[in-house]
Amino acid sequence: MRGRISTVGVTGALVGALGLCCGIPVLLALGSLGALAGITWGSWLLIALGLVTLAFRIRRRHARGPRSLPHASCARHTTKTSTLSQTRTQERTPDMAKNHDLIAIGAGMAGVSAATKCVAQGWDVAIVDALPYGGTCALRGCDPKKILRRGAEIIDSARLMRGKGIDEGGLSINWADLIKHKHGFTDPVPRSMEDNLARHGVHTLHGQARFTGSNRLEIDGRPYQATHFLIATGARPRPLDVPGHEHLIDSTDFLNLEALPPRILFVGGGFISFEFAHIAARAGARPVIVDRGPRPLKAFDPDLVELLVARGADSGIEVQRSTAITGITKTGGGYHVSLDHSGQTTTREFDLVVHGAGRTPELASLDLDAAGVAWDEHGVNVAGHLQSTTNPAVYAAGDAADTPGMPLTPVAVSEGKVAASNMLKDTTTVPDYAGIPTAVFTIPELTRVGMLEHEAHEAGLDLDVRYQDTSGWYSNYRTGETTAAAKVLIDRSTDQIVGAHLLGPEYGELINTIGLAIKLGLTTRQLKSATAAYPTVGSELAAML
Ligand SMILES: Cc1cc2nc3c(=O)[nH]c(=O)nc-3n(C[C@H](O)[C@H](O)[C@H](O)COP(=O)(O)OP(=O)(O)OC[C@H]3O[C@@H](n4cnc5c(N)ncnc54)[C@H](O)[C@@H]3O)c2cc1C
Repeated sequence: MRGRISTVGVTGALVGALGLCCGIPVLLALGSLGALAGITWGSWLLIALGLVTLAFRIRRRHARGPRSLPHASCARHTTKTSTLSQTRTQERTPDMAKNHDLIAIGAGMAGVSAATKCVAQGWDVAIVDALPYGGTCALRGCDPKKILRRGAEIIDSARLMRGKGIDEGGLSINWADLIKHKHGFTDPVPRSMEDNLARHGVHTLHGQARFTGSNRLEIDGRPYQATHFLIATGARPRPLDVPGHEHLIDSTDFLNLEALPPRILFVGGGFISFEFAHIAARAGARPVIVDRGPRPLKAFDPDLVELLVARGADSGIEVQRSTAITGITKTGGGYHVSLDHSGQTTTREFDLVVHGAGRTPELASLDLDAAGVAWDEHGVNVAGHLQSTTNPAVYAAGDAADTPGMPLTPVAVSEGKVAASNMLKDTTTVPDYAGIPTAVFTIPELTRVGMLEHEAHEAGLDLDVRYQDTSGWYSNYRTGETTAAAKVLIDRSTDQIVGAHLLGPEYGELINTIGLAIKLGLTTRQLKSATAAYPTVGSELAAML
């Protein structure tokens, strides 16, 4: 038999070699049986040929490397969510060649609300973010901040009841645990938000977007195109031109601090500094706020701001007005900070210096000039209906847009929806900014809706200013709160509220009702006719009017 070619052996060898090459075990097994049954030198030769082919295929696969690489930008994010997102982005590769109906840049409140509205109408929508999905409010702003404030509320409430039935001795904030409590909320946000968008059919992308033409952009070097774009890139801390500015931490860092040191300087007298200082003071720190101007919290009623500053002083918060920071130097254990007050320089020592000196639209990295989109330090230049004044394909919403709306979450959501609606229907609807309330979540909270008193006077309204010290009212007596007041501005000619300013516990809820009344154009007579559950803070609203 040796030297002859057996048909069974050759067929077996061929089938076996095919099984080996293709990695099909059944073929390999059958072929081997056949080859063994009619074994010849020719069979051995064919098996050897099959093995050589297989070795060659394996070498080629190794030389090519992995089939696809994760995107470099996503590699920055080490969470499980990001790994998942990388995989998704890889799957999205074919979209690069596609013309999307909309690409929303920024997966915060404005971008997400526009994306979900447009995809619900059957548009092909993609959204991109350079950071994990969720945006500022959910991950680095409103939500985490108010979770930390809960600890401070409890400490303060207990202190207010000292001698009134509560012995608060030993009660304190465990900062590390409070931060863990915050993470319990924030950590799942990116994944759930991205999954939700994907479930609705939105293409979720990751990376830094940069325009390359009027309807083209790149995301970390990968090209995309669309008929419409929404710029919803939010804001970032305004750069401070002070020697040693690199030692400042920003609001995001503050919300992630693992330990809270005692001596903290907040630069800037805006709402972020005030809210953080009120939390830090109840957590045992001695916060100082410096503000360049004579009056902090300029967007709020000055009379109520003065009451709040005094209440804060009782809790250990120092406010330095008309004081500018002129330099920060690192020392062994902290920082020397030079402060200028009316030409006099002093140096004070702090453990931490926090940037609370305002935010500016996040636009510099977008290369808006490449898309012919006009912008300045106030944001993307848009018409009232949120379309770019220079590129009709581009709309903007939220903190990144130069609109009459304040940089607030409800404004971002509303503008995102209006921009989406205008893109979908080719309309020019202008967002309704009337009656959007805002709050500074200090303790107690300071709130506002509508005009400031000086704005109402400047508008020439026949104004009835109803100011009341509400600290002795039932709701505040009950909690022991010492500082509370209400200022309601009523247009005598219409009996409608044009502005309201409240300082007191739970007044953040009360201001919502007044906001609704302003939006619906209710008169104070109509508002007073509503019945509230008693005794609630809301039941005191009628007495404020
Ligand atoms: C500490 C703090 C507390 C706050 N508290 C409140 C509050 O209590 N109530 C309230 O109403 N408002 C509050 N705000 C303001 C509120 O968070 C913002 O107004 C709101 O989040 C703006 O939403 P947005 O969608 O415009 O932008 P954002 O939510 O900021 O989203 C923008 C997204 O765009 C992404 N992005 C930017 N550039 C690019 C790019 N080139 N490519 C890809 N992605 C990009 C960013 O990563 C970001 O995720 C707070 C803000 C801060 C900082």
